[in-house]
Amino acid sequence: MISGSPTLSPSRTPAAARVTDVVRHAVAAGALGPEHPVAGFVDVEGVRDSVAALHRAFAPAPRVLHTFAAKAASLIPVLRLLAGQGMGCEVASPGELRLALEAGFAAGDIVLDSPAKTRAELAHALALGVAVNADNLDELRRIDALRSPASASVVGLRVNPQVGTGSIGAMSTATATSKFGVALRDPGNRERVVRAFAERPWLTRLHAHVGSQGCPLELIAAGVAETYLLAEEVNALAGRRQITSLDIGGGLPVNFAGDADTPTFAEYVAALRAAVPDLLDGRYALVTEFGRSLLAKNGFIAALVEYTKDAGGRRIAITHAGAQVATRTVLMPDAWPLRVAAFDAAGRPKDGPLLAQDVAGPCCFAGDVVAHARELPELAEGDIVVLRDTGAYYFSTPWAYNSLPYPAVHGFTVADGGEVRLATVRPEQTLDEIAAAGGLAHAGALAALLEPAR
Ligand SMILES: *Cc1c(COP(=O)(O)O)cnc(C)c1O
Repeated sequence: MISGSPTLSPSRTPAAARVTDVVRHAVAAGALGPEHPVAGFVDVEGVRDSVAALHRAFAPAPRVLHTFAAKAASLIPVLRLLAGQGMGCEVASPGELRLALEAGFAAGDIVLDSPAKTRAELAHALALGVAVNADNLDELRRIDALRSPASASVVGLRVNPQVGTGSIGAMSTATATSKFGVALRDPGNRERVVRAFAERPWLTRLHAHVGSQGCPLELIAAGVAETYLLAEEVNALAGRRQITSLDIGGGLPVNFAGDADTPTFAEYVAALRAAVPDLLDGRYALVTEFGRSLLAKNGFIAALVEYTKDAGGRRIAITHAGAQVATRTVLMPDAWPLRVAAFDAAGRPKDGPLLAQDVAGPCCFAGDVVAHARELPELAEGDIVVLRDTGAYYFSTPWAYNSLPYPAVHGFTVADGGEVRLATVRPEQTLDEIAAAGGLAHAGALAALLEPAR
């Protein structure tokens, strides 16, 4: 994204100042406070600027469809905002497909990936004209049986170039043993893939998504290069340009340590061109599937401090943001550290001497801590903590632990003078909705099983 870049948006308030404006406004407007102790916020202009930076970086490519990975922010208003900025959508479940359609993406701008598509899901996508990337050769055989020759769907095959692992194993999809795609370097698989294309003239796309957070650009580019070489091989054998597009996935890492947008989409494109000089020449149409890099730095979580205490010489602030909204950070604190900022009850930034404090959440397990021994101004009851860079995969992907409600999400804009406008993206989950998700409609079902059969 470019919102922090002075050369591109000279008049925009810096990110940290925008957060301050929004927190103060949200407290004054009642969107944050005892009634609403945790909420997510999306920087609408930031999202727009990030999409613009992506488009600019790939501008030399004559044919490119940038899809947004829906799982990174599975909220219809966010998806509709992205559709309005000229993006497509990458989906990986019937639920995500439904969200994408409700958001207004044209079927032809939607790409279905997922390692576990059922026959019914495949048939639905092929009937709609949604692009489908088969995860494996068995799935291709299912598509053989399901696909009508009239289907408008572009069909591709996902390969795993097995180029290696990034710094977070769980985020690395192109290791030797990754569950995704056809493992290209396993004995016989390259030949099988080439044959699969030879047998299916309608198979016209190759797909690889090499990894996400923690994968260096060179590793991602190496995976794309392997995919490109395979496409060249398939096309040479076919004697025609059978593969017409390459879906190069997403995975640009995000800087969670500061406000700088590094690496940039432009740096990613430079790495791609270094690995595959001809990639952007237009012989292949390109599809991208970025998620985190478009949204992470354009969102934050704000939560009230409910209590503070001391335990074993450690100060602990018990807040309303824990594993239910920051699951990865709580479960893998070393891999997913977040910046925390402290505000007073009126939403003003706190200063004063720094104190090492644990910032804990509301969940009933001991590890529910979003920041350990973090140096922050001393927190007190009623204060607010902000978890920065949480616009992707955090508040939009809540965990239902302890039947905590998923939080409200608000979009915001901040005018040059600091005036904030908020819009509801999603209201907080109600107790009725929690009860319904807890099986309320079937409350007596199990006790009835113990009654004599009639
Ligand atoms: C998760 C995912 C993405 C998006 O990854 P980011 O790291 O958020 O850019 C893209 N493609 C596929 C197939 C994915 O599973």
